[in-house]
Amino acid sequence: MTDIKSLTLQELKTELTAMGEKAFRAGQMYEWMHKKLAVSFDDMANLPKAMRDACKERFEYVSLETVQVQESKIDGTKKFLFALPDGNLVESVWMKYHHGNSVCISSQVGCKMGCRFCASTLDGWERNLLPSEMLEQIYAITRITGERVSNVVVMGTGEPMDNYDHLVRFIELLTNEDGLNISQRNITVSTCGLVPQIRKLADENLQITLALSLHAPNDEKRKELMPIAKKYSLAEVMDACDYYFAKTGRRISFEYALVAGVNDNDNEAEELISLLQGKNCHVNLIPVNPIKERDYVSTNRQNTERFKNKLEKSKIQCTIRREMGRDIDGACGQLRRRHVQKEQ
Ligand code: SAH
Repeated sequence: MTDIKSLTLQELKTELTAMGEKAFRAGQMYEWMHKKLAVSFDDMANLPKAMRDACKERFEYVSLETVQVQESKIDGTKKFLFALPDGNLVESVWMKYHHGNSVCISSQVGCKMGCRFCASTLDGWERNLLPSEMLEQIYAITRITGERVSNVVVMGTGEPMDNYDHLVRFIELLTNEDGLNISQRNITVSTCGLVPQIRKLADENLQITLALSLHAPNDEKRKELMPIAKKYSLAEVMDACDYYFAKTGRRISFEYALVAGVNDNDNEAEELISLLQGKNCHVNLIPVNPIKERDYVSTNRQNTERFKNKLEKSKIQCTIRREMGRDIDGACGQLRRRHVQKEQ
């Protein structure tokens, strides 16, 4: 069955007219799915019943079931565990900021990238998410909270660039003016550094922000933390980032998870400075969120500040990531993993 929520308006027109429906029905239906966030064909009150029934026969209407919601008592951050139509679980996070609400979504069930500090990859990769399944995380959260989402970050479980075609289609649908109409500038895609896909994304003519998971200032250290570094050297990754900036004018956001005694000493700060000096970029320092399967410990506040000050002295823009939802299985993949293990 065709996954109707992953179709563009044009494709939907083609499908519906092939069924003998009038073309204007596609616009109505698209609006029901992507703007009014209908949970089923039966919600679509201004469409004839016969048409809705015909659609049920022909299309799959992806929606997610809410399995669990955790709410932080510290900052109101909410973490959602959703069941996909095939029973697989994904998690998404809702964060409230002064400038609006932000949702962090997953792009795959599990992950095959194997970053050492990350919980999402411990059980390996199951499958890619469909565009509809990425959208529906945002739609479901909008329905539940009753509040508009203004920012979307693809930073949950999975490597978005490893699900490239679905990612690009998801962005197209999410930013479409007949849907939620979220500004491209309010979307961030985070990658561990798949070089060919970064270059391809640069050529798509989008205005989204690219976040690059750096986590180390040299190849040797990066290989220890991130297996993908064995495939693409830091030089290749940085070239691809320069290309992304040149093509889009969007400054890159470099993510650097600080792990005590692993990547946080003064030499490493200096190396990072030489790597980034002169680039139009931003560094996000994230005290690593420890997972029980590894003995990585987060850099303490004082050393984090010291690292930050060094970068700033060299005119590299830098922020320390505010830790949201510390009390609710903060690190990506932790909630899902705990749930799956309990079931087994
Ligand atoms: N696969 C993509 C996006 C998902 S991970 C990527 O690698 O960028 C989102 C971000 O969270 C990445 O920067 C990742 O390295 C980081 N991350 C994963 N586990 C973490 C942990 N335990 N503590 C801090 N950051 C973590």
